[in-house]
Amino acid sequence: MHSDATIRQQNSDLTSRALGVLHRFYGYNSFYPLQFEAIQCVMQGNDAVVLMPTGGGKSLCFQIPALLSDGCTIVISPLLALMKDQVDNLQGMGIPAASVNSSQSDSFNREVIEQVYAGRIKLLYISPERLLAEIDQWSSMIKISLFAIDEAHCISQWGHDFRPEYTQLATLRQRFPGVPIMALTATADRLTRDDIARQLDIPNAKLFMTSFDRPNITLNVAGNVSGNDKMKMITRFIDSHSGESGIIYSLRRTDTEKMATRLRSLGYNAAAFHAGMPTREKEAVQAAFLNDEIPIICATIAFGMGINKSNVRWVIHSNMPKSIECYYQEIGRAGRDGMPATALMFYSFADVIALRSFAQESGQSSMNMNKLKRMQQYAESDVCRRRTLLSYFNERYDHDCGNCDVCLNPPERFDATVWCQMALSAIVRTNGSEGITAIIDILRGSARTDIVAKGYDKLRTYGVGRNVSFAAWNAYLLQMLHLGIIDVAYDDYNHLRVTPYGWEILKGSRQVMMSRFMPREHAAATPKNKAPRQATLQGTLQDMPPADKALFELLKKTRLEIARAHKVAPYIVFSDRVLDVIASQCPTTREEFASLYGVGEKKTEMYWRPFTNTVKNYLAEKSSK
Ligand code: ADP
Ligand code: ZN
Repeated sequence: MHSDATIRQQNSDLTSRALGVLHRFYGYNSFYPLQFEAIQCVMQGNDAVVLMPTGGGKSLCFQIPALLSDGCTIVISPLLALMKDQVDNLQGMGIPAASVNSSQSDSFNREVIEQVYAGRIKLLYISPERLLAEIDQWSSMIKISLFAIDEAHCISQWGHDFRPEYTQLATLRQRFPGVPIMALTATADRLTRDDIARQLDIPNAKLFMTSFDRPNITLNVAGNVSGNDKMKMITRFIDSHSGESGIIYSLRRTDTEKMATRLRSLGYNAAAFHAGMPTREKEAVQAAFLNDEIPIICATIAFGMGINKSNVRWVIHSNMPKSIECYYQEIGRAGRDGMPATALMFYSFADVIALRSFAQESGQSSMNMNKLKRMQQYAESDVCRRRTLLSYFNERYDHDCGNCDVCLNPPERFDATVWCQMALSAIVRTNGSEGITAIIDILRGSARTDIVAKGYDKLRTYGVGRNVSFAAWNAYLLQMLHLGIIDVAYDDYNHLRVTPYGWEILKGSRQVMMSRFMPREHAAATPKNKAPRQATLQGTLQDMPPADKALFELLKKTRLEIARAHKVAPYIVFSDRVLDVIASQCPTTREEFASLYGVGEKKTEMYWRPFTNTVKNYLAEKSSK
């Protein structure tokens, strides 16, 4: 038995060793929440399940133990792109990491294994199928310090990304009883989470779960924006984020192509990405995005898994996603570095109808309809969006965030009974044989030929709502749908129908409150610096002076040149966050550079000259003006 004092002593030794490695290789001074606890758990030989959002710092939870232990940590990862990214990243910090994979020649892979035998590799990245096929050949030759199973949600059939190969990892515990296992995922889906430890057969694993909030992402929703206005809003949005990388998600493949073509014709550097494209083309687009050569990708959800790029600064959903899980995962690709990022989602009546029919046709229609309903509630919510999101994930969050469109621009509630009655009456008078566009046209007194041809211009309701815009009617009808006042006959050309509740309103026996429609002209143009740095960044940057924007841009250029010379992605050289620190602290000497947050020993040695030169030149030019 160890005495309490010995255990305390061991813990404090571990703390200082872990902090030492953190500082030396990564240039950080303190751990993010639960990182140290997870490290300690596997260092003591126990299994761990780590649930943290994207950007929460999961990788360090197994990288630090790898550096502190004898032998080699095996990291199991589902995708080549993810392995390459992490290996590049680690090598960039001077950490001996490698991967064996099918994109490398057999002889190269053999050489990697030789290096592992020789004890020269601390982290080995490998796919699950390859690991299980090969491990018997080499397990007796190496000391395995830890199995880290990244993207562990891939093991669950409940999840959105089930990979059958993952299920075989369940044998690891029995075959290697002495080697701790750490499973990591950013999934916020409860069913999937609960499944992980069971599937991996690690019932005694300790759970390390942090908040899934991503405070640095500003949340925006724009409802009922017509096609042209949507395009205008998107270009305005991109203009206000010029020079930054972002993703525009659409539901359909053709829409991604249309969007990219349209943006290019307007002079933006954009490309499409969807599963129907040839592999080579997809790889080229992805590489150009990672290397900051094409900043804007118009994509279906096929794009994203495997994108570790830390400086994605914004994500636009041009259609509403089918569930909150999908939405959260997709916006989560922005701002992994902890710097401010923006999410903007459009949603419309047409989206709701399209998604409802997908959901109804799917195998699990009632579950999918439910998920869609929750998504819609989020989109239409008039309380803080972050509260709505986190409550969906069963997380307590008891204040308004101050960093979403509702908090920044609260909607006004009003008695909308009369407006509802107008719309209901139009629906009744057309005998429930029209869809939303015709109903709005009638209300607004449109002279469209088919409206006139059907005699709708003779209806009592014709033109009663002409002083309300088309977009506003759209929004009110959507709210009516959502409130159960009207319904859509999906099996009958999406015609609108009045529900029993709607009849009560029409007869005047009930009142309705709704949110006043606000044109979303400026809703999404939330200034980036609105999110205060203190609130968004974990770590030690509280008292930093603001970064010099012009210098930041110059540093980005320096970073790009270095990245090209070394053939790595720019964010592998330094994250935006470190550039921000440089632009704020203006280091001009090696010592100053070395002491910066996020700059470890290897990067100091490699990069102090070019970056301090950029700073010095900038300062000299500024003072000579
Ligand atoms: P995840 O794998 O959970 O998405 P990462 O491990 O990639 O997150 O970490 C996200 C970013 O945060 C990276 O740039 C990483 O270097 C940084 N980071 C991780 N831990 C810390 C820490 N303790 N202090 C400062 N930055 C950290
Ligand atoms: Zn809010």
